[in-house]
Amino acid sequence: MEYYQRLSTKWKDFGTFYAVFKNLQKILQLFFNASWKTNFWLQWKRNFMDHLPCPIDGTRPHVPFYASRQIYQPDDFFKLPRAYGYDDFPRLLEDGLYQPMIGDSPNEFLQSWLFFALLSQVLGVEIDTADFLIATDVTLHTKRLTLMLEQWAKREGHRAEKGLLMEQKNRHVRASMALGDARRFVSKHCSYRRLDRDPCPSPSNDTEVLELGNPAHAALSKVMTLSLAILGETLQQAWPDTLSLMGSGTAFWRDPGTEDTNWGQSKYCRDKMKENGYCPLEIRRIESILPSVSIVYYASFMETFKRRSDTSKCTIWHCNCKKEAQEALHMNNCQGNCPTYQIGEDKLIKIIEEGKTPLVTWTYRGELECKGYDLKKEGLKFGALSHSWEDSIVDCGRDARNKNNRHMHQCQIESLRETFNRLLDDRESRTTLDNFPFWVDTLCFPRQYTVKGKALNQLKDIYHKAAAVLVWDRNLLQRPKTAEQDTIEMNMRIRTSDWSWRLWTFQEAILAPKHSLHVAFRGNDTVNIDELQRARDKSRQDPYNIYHHIWKAGHPFSPPIWKLRNEKEFRVQRAWEGVQFRLVSQPEDETIVLASALGLDVTKIQSVGKINENPEVVAAKRMVKFLDLLDATPGLGIPSGIIFLPPPKLRIKGIDETKGYGWAPATWLTKQSKTYPLFRPLKQTASIMKRGLLVEFPGLILHCPNTPIQENKFWVSVHQCMHKWFKVVADVQGKEWNRFWESNISQYSELSIIMSTQFPRERWEVGMLAKTKGKLSQGEVRWVEPLCRVWFCLETNSSIVTGLLKSIRESGDKMLCGERLEDTQKWCIDGGED
Ligand SMILES: [Zn+2]
Ligand SMILES: [Zn+2]
Repeated sequence: MEYYQRLSTKWKDFGTFYAVFKNLQKILQLFFNASWKTNFWLQWKRNFMDHLPCPIDGTRPHVPFYASRQIYQPDDFFKLPRAYGYDDFPRLLEDGLYQPMIGDSPNEFLQSWLFFALLSQVLGVEIDTADFLIATDVTLHTKRLTLMLEQWAKREGHRAEKGLLMEQKNRHVRASMALGDARRFVSKHCSYRRLDRDPCPSPSNDTEVLELGNPAHAALSKVMTLSLAILGETLQQAWPDTLSLMGSGTAFWRDPGTEDTNWGQSKYCRDKMKENGYCPLEIRRIESILPSVSIVYYASFMETFKRRSDTSKCTIWHCNCKKEAQEALHMNNCQGNCPTYQIGEDKLIKIIEEGKTPLVTWTYRGELECKGYDLKKEGLKFGALSHSWEDSIVDCGRDARNKNNRHMHQCQIESLRETFNRLLDDRESRTTLDNFPFWVDTLCFPRQYTVKGKALNQLKDIYHKAAAVLVWDRNLLQRPKTAEQDTIEMNMRIRTSDWSWRLWTFQEAILAPKHSLHVAFRGNDTVNIDELQRARDKSRQDPYNIYHHIWKAGHPFSPPIWKLRNEKEFRVQRAWEGVQFRLVSQPEDETIVLASALGLDVTKIQSVGKINENPEVVAAKRMVKFLDLLDATPGLGIPSGIIFLPPPKLRIKGIDETKGYGWAPATWLTKQSKTYPLFRPLKQTASIMKRGLLVEFPGLILHCPNTPIQENKFWVSVHQCMHKWFKVVADVQGKEWNRFWESNISQYSELSIIMSTQFPRERWEVGMLAKTKGKLSQGEVRWVEPLCRVWFCLETNSSIVTGLLKSIRESGDKMLCGERLEDTQKWCIDGGED
C-alpha cells in the first residue's frame, strides 16, 4: 500500500508535469493555428463543467485536478480499484472506501476511477487527461466533452450500420455495467440522503452511518463528487440510440438512460442552496422536482426577490419562514401614487345571478367598466389573470373588516389592458379604439358566500375559454425578459417561482388552453408557452447548444401538469402528483381547486361546511364529497393506489361524514415525490363499498412464527426453497414497534401485506400491513383492517440470506413465510365504520 502510494505520488508529479507540458504544446499549436479567431481567448478562459451553462446567478466552481495518470484505457474502470487496494469490487460498491486512505488519495482515486476511467470505459476509447486539464491552476474542464460525445455517437452509429457485432455488444454491456456501478457508488457514498423519502424508518440508514463514520468519505471534495455525478448523467443522457435499441429482457441490456434511480443529491449543490438562503422545504422541493443533478446544479445559485428571513424554524416538511408584508407592485414607471378602482359588489352579484361572468375593460377615457358575458358564446375574446394572493402583487389595502378591499391600482389595470390588447390583437376582431375585456379576481370575484360558489364554479370556464391567460409573479415581474438564446434560464425562474408553488394557480396551469399561456416580465413583456417549448426542443436537438445537456430544464411544466394539459388518461393520479409540493393557506380550499382542475361541479363542494365551522373539519367533509364525486364520475374514479398514500387519514372520530373513509388520505398536499403507488395498477379504479374501499392488488399472507416479530424491519421467505426473501420495513410513524404490536396484533390475528407490485426488485416498493377482518362475496374478497404502510424489496445481499438460512436451521420457529396472492386478489380496505 505504502509502496503504491509513493508510486502514485511520483506518478502524479510526473503526470502533472507531463500534462502541463502537453497542454503548453497544445496552447502553442492552437495559438498559431487559431489566434486569428476572435473568440479564442474567450474559449480558453472557460473552466469546469463548461459543457453546461454557467449556473443561474452564480459562477462556475473550480474542480481540482487530482488524477495521477496521464492516460486511461477502457477496462481500467474494473481494474483500477485493485491498484488502490480494493480487491473486493462488490464490497467497494456496498461499503464505499473501506480501506484507510490518507490525504488527497480518496479524491485522486475517485476522480481516476469514476471520471477518467469511467469516461474511457463508456466511450470505448483511450482518454488523455491533458484534454481536461487547465494547467495554470490544475483544475478540470470539460469543454471537449461535447465533441467527444458526438464522435462517440457517430462511431457507434457507423459500427451498428451492418448490425451489432458481438464485440460491440460486449463493450456495451461493460459500459452499461460501469455506468450502473458508478451511479450506485456516487449516489450511495458521495451524496446526501434524499430528502424526499417518506418519513419511514429510512431504507438508507446505513448510508448515513457511513457518511459520518468513514473519514475517507468526509475527505472527499464536494465539488469533485459533483463533477462525477454530472459526468455520469451526461454520459447516460448521451447514450447513443443505436446502443439503446439492442435486445431487451435482462437487466444487463437495459438502457441506463431510462432507469429512474438517479445520481443522488449532490452535497455541493445542497450546501450551496443553504448558503444562498433557501429554506429546507424549498431545497427539498427543488431536489424533488428537478430531474437531474446537473439541473439542480444549474439552479442552486439562483436568487429570488423574495426576502428570506430566518429559515431556522423551517423543516423539510413545513416552511415557517417569517413572512414580511409586501406592498402592491406598481408598474410601468408608476411612482406609486396612482388611484385605485373597484367594481361594486351588487353589480357582480347581479351579473353572476344572471348566469353570466363579469369581465372588465379599462377604457381610453380612463374608466373601469364591468359587464356580464356568456363565455360559451362564440367569438368572445378575453384575457384572464393568474396570480397568487400570497404574492400580494395586487394588495391595495384593507377594508373595515380588515379584509382585502378588492381595489386595484390604475397602473396595474393599464398594464393588463396593454398586455391583453397586444396578445389578443389579430387585426380582424378589433378596431383601434376597442379594448379587450379581461377577468381578474380582485375586481371580478364577489364576496357574498352564496354567490361565491357559483363564481368558483365559473373559474374552470374562465381559464379554459380565455384567449390569453397571463401569469403574474412578483419576482418575474421585476425582471427583464431574457434574450432568446437564454429562454431556458427564464423557464427555470418560472418553474421555481412562487406562482408555480401555490395550489390555486395549479388549475390555471392546467386549464389554460394550448398556446395561450403567457408569463409577464418587466415592462409589459411576456413569454409564451410555445416559445419556451421551442427553446427546449432546440437545445435538445442541437448537441452544441449550451443548454443541450440540461435541455430538460426547458420543460415549461412539471411532467404531471404537462400530461394533464395534453392527455386524457389518468387525470386523477396526475392531479395528485401535480399538487404534491403546492401550498394553500386555507385547508378547505384544497378540494375546490382539485375539483375545478378536474372539471367537477365546484358548487357541490363549496356548499359543504358552515361559515364558522372549524376549517379542518370543513376540509375533511369536502374531501369526502370530492371522493364521492370522483367515484361517481365516469372517466375519473378513485385510483386503487390511494390506499398506500401516507397518513394522516381522512377519518375523524366524531365526524359522521368521514365514517367509512379510513382508507383515504386527509389531504393530497403531502409533498411526496414518489408517485408510483398511485399509478399501480393503472387500469383498475377502486370503488367505495359499504364496508370500505374495494381494490385489487397482489399480496402475501404472513405465516408468523410463534413469537411476535421483534423489530419493524424483518425478512419474509417467499419461496419454498428459502432462497428468495423480501426485506420489509414497517412505517409505524415514530411509534414504538413493541407497543404497536401489542395494541394491534393478537396471537390469533392473520396478517397480510398488500403489495403495490407483485415482483419487487432492489428498489423499495410500498405496501400495506393489514389484519384480516373476514371474507366477503363468498370468500372472493379479503376484508382487512389497515395497520400501517410498509416498504419492501427483494433481499439481494447474499450474506444476509445466508445468515437467515443459518438462523432457521438453528431454530425453525423463528421463520416468517409469505404465501403469495395473485395480482387479481380483491381486498376491501376497512374504512372504520364502527
Ligand atoms: Zn421556509
Ligand atoms: Zn401605480
